[in-house]
Amino acid sequence: MAAHEFDLIRRIRERVAKRDDVVLGIGDDTALLQLPPDRQLAVTTDTLNAGVHFPIDTAAADIGWKALAVNLSDLAAMGAEPAWCTLSLSLPQIDDDWLDGFLQGFLSLAERHGVALVGGDTTRGPLSACVTAMGTLRPGAALRRAGAKVGDDIWVTGTLGDAAAALALLQQGEAPDATLRERLDRPTPRVAAGMRLAGLAHACVDVSDGLLADLGHVCEESGVGAEARIDALPASPALLQIGANSRSAWQAGGGDDYELCFTASPQLSEDIQRAMDFAETAVTRIGRIVAGQGARALTAHGHEWEPPLLGYEHFAR
Ligand code: ADP
Ligand code: MG
Repeated sequence: MAAHEFDLIRRIRERVAKRDDVVLGIGDDTALLQLPPDRQLAVTTDTLNAGVHFPIDTAAADIGWKALAVNLSDLAAMGAEPAWCTLSLSLPQIDDDWLDGFLQGFLSLAERHGVALVGGDTTRGPLSACVTAMGTLRPGAALRRAGAKVGDDIWVTGTLGDAAAALALLQQGEAPDATLRERLDRPTPRVAAGMRLAGLAHACVDVSDGLLADLGHVCEESGVGAEARIDALPASPALLQIGANSRSAWQAGGGDDYELCFTASPQLSEDIQRAMDFAETAVTRIGRIVAGQGARALTAHGHEWEPPLLGYEHFAR
């Protein structure tokens, strides 16, 4: 590796937050992490590639934020408490300003959730950031995709469709409203909500590929069907301002929301509301788990609503 690479790693190392359970962080051949005796380790990894997972003109700080956010969203969907992460960066060239921006975005989100960056890798190549995030859980407390029961309410945090709307506008050569663009570039991982749902929700998934696609995963793993009411899907004020024609498609089928979709017994609806109040996270009941298979969307009149665009698939033909 080049001297420059040492320099870059030193710059990262100088800026990372400390945690008592990081026995050994950046600088050795591996990190050493002390897991509390009564907890399980939750591990997840996600890669962001330039032009695929973010528009190529995305600001460095936003790429840094999003690279960690999408991983924290997976931990949130399991109900895990985030603790540590690693970062593998592939960069076309060494650009100190770009790296400073990236780290600023990445580490500001890490700090918000008390996550320590404990290692990684740095290589030359097309712009890409691969993050592994680790968190801890009480044994048996994980919110899995399997576990949804017939009769459960289906809930979703926050609002849906903003990121998809922003991306669609960008692809049409239009500039999205700043709040929509921020939802695409700086998703909010619902960490506090996920942790509060342990013991309440039967099943949970984070909405990264589109509501119906991700809810479909819950159905498949749980051996049930799901009916979501299109008119019940939460929309942000910014989304309500634009494109009534595409709104439902973005909400039900667009990706990159990073909200949590979960199911719970209807008897627990007040407990769910209270738990989400504590987590300072808005939550909306959007439908019901039914016998059968697959996730369907229904209109207010109970007719099946056909989504014009489905969740993002990388290898779709
Ligand atoms: P190795 O040759 O053992 O893979 P490296 O030279 O790749 O070691 O990395 C040296 C140290 O710097 C290791 O502790 C590694 O985890 C850390 N590191 C390298 N790149 C990054 C990065 N992008 N972010 C955080 N830590 C990194
Ligand atoms: Mg290495």
